[in-house]
This record gives sequence, structure tokens and C-alpha cells, in this order.
Amino acid sequence: MITGIEVARLPLDLPLRCRCGRVRGVASDVSPSSGFRFVCYCKDCQAFARFLEWPDVLDSAGGTDIFQMPPGRVKLTAGTDAVRCLRLSNKGVLRWYTDCCRTPIGNTAASPRFPIIAIIHSFMVHGADGRRDEVLGRPLCRIYERSALGPLPPNAPPPPALGVFGRRAWSMFGWWVLGLARPSPLFDDRTGAPHAVPRVLMPSERAAL
Ligand SMILES: [Zn+2]
Ligand SMILES: [Zn+2]
Repeated sequence: MITGIEVARLPLDLPLRCRCGRVRGVASDVSPSSGFRFVCYCKDCQAFARFLEWPDVLDSAGGTDIFQMPPGRVKLTAGTDAVRCLRLSNKGVLRWYTDCCRTPIGNTAASPRFPIIAIIHSFMVHGADGRRDEVLGRPLCRIYERSALGPLPPNAPPPPALGVFGRRAWSMFGWWVLGLARPSPLFDDRTGAPHAVPRVLMPSERAAL
């Protein structure tokens, strides 16, 4: 007999959507074992939420709930002209959001060769029943908790256990071998250029966030 929980944990196609619905997409084959969910308390993720003027993306201590998965399993199906890209500094990761309603989409490395796209919870649609934990599993760990804005919420995930990063590296290698690093929905597959020219904040703009 199949229980409800087992059914929910089968890989599924998860709808992606900005707040206003203009930018939409789908994340395929999503399950707790198909990616890495964690909560990041770093200052840059907090600055990104403030740049978008959407502080409630963060938990009460400034954490961002992120799911890393292979880019080849993410597609944007509508509104791609509203996708924008931000860099908090010359060297930082690319932070993607929508221009229509300033919903954070996620983060990528500057090169499409890095086989990870990190999707922020605000761009995932889990329905009114809030099945995020069922669909993605509980966050595996928290990172950069020293930058937290206050006491961590009671449901904060544990610090990273030995092995979490090894497992992540091994999965990344697997995604790369399976060809799931491409195509990325955020980069031109032929030229490798990001679909939106990254706007780089001036140091004074970054400092103001
Ligand atoms: Zn929108
Ligand atoms: Zn962060």
C-alpha cells in the first residue's frame, strides 16, 4: 500500500512563479534527494532581499530558504523578458529576480558551467497547504549563522554535518556527468552569456543596503 507521504515524495514537477504571475516556469523531477535545501544567513542574501524591498523573504533571523538543483531541470516558460540580474560586487554570484514585481528567483555562479541553480523559496509554488517540507525535505543545514540578525528561529536547521558538503559535491559531479548542467534557463546555451546583463552595484549602493 502506498501512503500519502510516499506519494508526495515521488519526484514531481514543481511550478515556479513570481508574485504577480508574469514570470513562470517549472522545476522538474523535484524531490528531497534531487537537490540541496539549506538556509543561508549571509549578509549578501540579506542585502539582496533588502535591494528587492521584500524583507519577508527572510526568516526572523535574516535567513534565506534555498534549494540548489541542476539547471537542466529548470525551465522558464513565460515572462523571460522580465528577468533581471544583479551582482552585489564585481566578484559576487549572479542574483536573479523579476522586474515586474521584484520577486527573488535565485542565484547562480557567473558561469553556466557550474552545474547548480539555487532557487529561493519565493519563486516556488507549494500551494495553500504549504507542502515545502514534504516536497523538498527539511533544510539539511544552515550556513553563515554568524551573520544572523538575531536568535535563530526554533525551527532553524542544524549546522552543517560532516558529509553534507561531500554529498553535495558528489551530486554536482553526477549532475554534470548526466548533462544536467545545461541548458540553464538563465544563460544562452550557445554563448554562455547571461540572459540579462548583470547590474553591478557600486560600493556605495551595496553599503546602503
Ligand atoms: Zn512578477
Ligand atoms: Zn547567502
